[in-house]
Amino acid sequence: MEKSSGLRVILFPLPIQGCINPMIQLAKILHSRGFSITVIHTHFNAPKASSHPLFTFLEIPDGLSETEKRTDDKTFLFTLLNQRCEAPFRDFLAKLLVSSDSETQRISCLIHDSGWTFTPSVTKGLKLPRLVLSTYTVSFFLNHFSLPKLRREVSQDSEQDDLVQEFPPLREKDLVRLLKEKREYLEPYLNMMLEATKSSSGIIFMSCEELNQDSLRKAREDFKVPIYAIEPSFSNFPASSSSLFTQDETCIPWLDKQEDKSVIYVSFGSLATMTGPELIEIACGLRNSGQPFLLVVRVGSVKGTEWIEAIPEELMAKVNEKGKIVKWAPQQEVLKHRAVGGFLTHNGWNSVVESVCEGVPMICLPFIWDQFLNARLVSGVWRVGLHLEHRIESNEIESSIRSLFYGDEGDAIRERMRLLKEKVGRSVKENDGLSDTETRSHDINLMLTI
Ligand code: UDP
Repeated sequence: MEKSSGLRVILFPLPIQGCINPMIQLAKILHSRGFSITVIHTHFNAPKASSHPLFTFLEIPDGLSETEKRTDDKTFLFTLLNQRCEAPFRDFLAKLLVSSDSETQRISCLIHDSGWTFTPSVTKGLKLPRLVLSTYTVSFFLNHFSLPKLRREVSQDSEQDDLVQEFPPLREKDLVRLLKEKREYLEPYLNMMLEATKSSSGIIFMSCEELNQDSLRKAREDFKVPIYAIEPSFSNFPASSSSLFTQDETCIPWLDKQEDKSVIYVSFGSLATMTGPELIEIACGLRNSGQPFLLVVRVGSVKGTEWIEAIPEELMAKVNEKGKIVKWAPQQEVLKHRAVGGFLTHNGWNSVVESVCEGVPMICLPFIWDQFLNARLVSGVWRVGLHLEHRIESNEIESSIRSLFYGDEGDAIRERMRLLKEKVGRSVKENDGLSDTETRSHDINLMLTI
């Protein structure tokens, strides 16, 4: 670890798993470079402070009711959070700034998730520099501001494979699915996010030139602020300690018993939900593929049931012959395990990056929002995965697993994934976790010490 810089950075993640992990990873990188870290977080989905004894955690009230916490409409949830957290956040930050003046440690900057849109008015008054962290892939972040316009213009029942010109590499049929999601207040929310990003001192993406070169360039042109990248360096800065769910550690001894590259790992992240019949199709497809599998079914992710009750007893007995079902896995450890040969994924951006870092080829089954675009990057641009084309059917799942593990296409995908992993790995080594995307240097340290 570098000598303390005498500076403290305040981090403010959005309270969902896919946003907390990159923020904690960023905290670890900055701490390793000598910065002290304070994480301000909501009561809802509070990160476990005890897992990070080197950081200071401060909780603000969010006023969410139990029903509001469970809403499927994430834009509505984030709008509420922004309304209710502004005043407590402003108070906490002002107090922190007053007390930090009298101590040896100065607060140099606020880094907040792009989903916190009220922050400009707070930091402007307090004269505190502010950086935005986007947990989306760069091209989704850049283009998703045009979604309200696309919603007005695009035919709502297209099953076309054509690229969406304004939103490559998204296909029309993906866009239609994405636009069907219930998202109240989308337009005002995105407008505020865009304004907050434009007026920031810089944007941080979880990416690197090897994954998103063109869109990183476009981000620099569009926003005209420095663009930084947290490189996918999970071995140095693992995110698993920031899990909101209890990880089932029995996955690892189970994997130890399996042959090299034989297991298909299946997980759909912290937000996606499915129906009981869809879970049955997935379980059947996995079972019929003949491969051993590790399936994560998050509690509450199957609509109308608690966990896996939808799977009939007879099928469950067959599933147990070669498969293991858990409620939450230590995903980064699983992907790193020598026994894992494929990842059937919802293509959340963290999962995609983790899979690339470990060189695990994917089968893409996106459910919501940015996952549709990530899946096209994986299958169509980098070509390191197959795409299920939204068919949650047992025979499709079975045949895609067979193609990935045994077909010629699977061989080609594995080779491309090996090369991509190597390229990304080299970049991570050079840049030590976090870099300025234009100069590929540590300029962010300078920015934070001003
Ligand atoms: N994850 C995990 N165990 C699981 C499933 C997911 O630790 O069983 C972690 C995964 O490693 C990733 C995060 O949860 O870091 C999920 O983020 P992602 O962006 O992939 O999806 P989201 O949850 O936002 O849909």
